[in-house]
Amino acid sequence: MKTNKKIYLGVFSAILLCISVFSCKKQGIENGVEPTVKKSDQMHEFNFGGNKILIKEDKGTYYLSDDIILTEQQFNLLKANSNAAMSSTARALIMNSLVKRWTNSIVYYSLSNLGADTASSLKAMQYIARVSPLTFVQRTSQANYINFVKSTGNSSSVGMVGGAQNLNLYNYNTPGIIIHEIFHALGVMHEQCRTDQSSNVVIHPENIPDDKEFNFNQVSVSGYTNYGNFDFESIMMYEPYAFSSNGQPTITKLDGSTYQTSYPAANMSPTDIAGINQLYTGFTYTGLPANISYEIASALDNTKLLNVPGSATADGTQIILYTDGNTNNARWNVTKNADGYYTLSPLHALSKALTVVGNGVANGTKLEIRTNTGDPTQQFNITPEASGYYIISPRSVPSKNVDVPGSNTANSTLLNIWSYGGANNQKFKFNTF
Ligand SMILES: [Zn+2]
Repeated sequence: MKTNKKIYLGVFSAILLCISVFSCKKQGIENGVEPTVKKSDQMHEFNFGGNKILIKEDKGTYYLSDDIILTEQQFNLLKANSNAAMSSTARALIMNSLVKRWTNSIVYYSLSNLGADTASSLKAMQYIARVSPLTFVQRTSQANYINFVKSTGNSSSVGMVGGAQNLNLYNYNTPGIIIHEIFHALGVMHEQCRTDQSSNVVIHPENIPDDKEFNFNQVSVSGYTNYGNFDFESIMMYEPYAFSSNGQPTITKLDGSTYQTSYPAANMSPTDIAGINQLYTGFTYTGLPANISYEIASALDNTKLLNVPGSATADGTQIILYTDGNTNNARWNVTKNADGYYTLSPLHALSKALTVVGNGVANGTKLEIRTNTGDPTQQFNITPEASGYYIISPRSVPSKNVDVPGSNTANSTLLNIWSYGGANNQKFKFNTF
């Protein structure tokens, strides 16, 4: 059952060995001069073949970004790897040991320092465990474990670093942020740091304070590799205005436009899920079976279904909760696109799709049916909850979940979207009939 073997595939931007990456990458060794490691204040600058990486040192702790803690050993490995004269074989050995995965996909944790605020951290671990081979086990006497700590900020080590490793949380009530930090502890870096950063986004240093620039490193380090296509919806992707000094975007798409700003997502994107399964193998996550028709029941009351009132077919007809009447206006054909997002079309009007009204992002925005054009407001991330229930998040606003407002299960209650709440009014069962 050992999975922590020789196949070092990266997730998104994990620093892991990838033969194809290091073998084809020039490292600026032409003059054989060891690159300078400049120290200015507490910022270290490493040069990897002309691409600089900034690492902050603060009171003896190293940071690859504000929330990624490097051990001294990891820092020294990166420093060694910036030696341009090093052979690719030696480089491979270094990268092999930089980020370690958790043995047998078992992660030990301690929540004792979170006190009463442990529930959302447990929830975040459960979300990851449901979609991956990872098992999270409360530590008894194991040497290597994640120690959740209530802190003034959010940060984590990267990978299993040995011994107790703190996972510092400020937003300990926000599972999306906790999942993000746990992903670091599992060995995953930020999406914007991918080696293909410059072919997917533009970083705007003029809008970034100098001491925050290191959050936008493009880590073109030998052995640092990516999983899948660049994913703007990744739970590891910073929002367009992250660390802005002047209200202007710090990250844009290549055309200068911004992307969804509702950071953090409530849950992992489909690509995040695929990536973590690539990193920790031994399990194939398929998600909710698609190309099947379902009745979608609220976890508050299994007899109440998502319903198109009166079997209307007009665009803009808003979705309600209604008693199961075995009719096609409360049955949804569920299809899945190549990115892993789902489209839900009512059986009585298959050309229509469940849609977030008006591309709204605010709490309370209603849901309707509208002619299916494949718009992000018509695509949903559907992830498992406990006991066969699922959470439904619009692709257009991944920080929100489909929600029964006020947990009111009366017939004709209008469905809406709302920030993560963790209660049964945001959980739904997909029943075949
Ligand atoms: Zn992070």
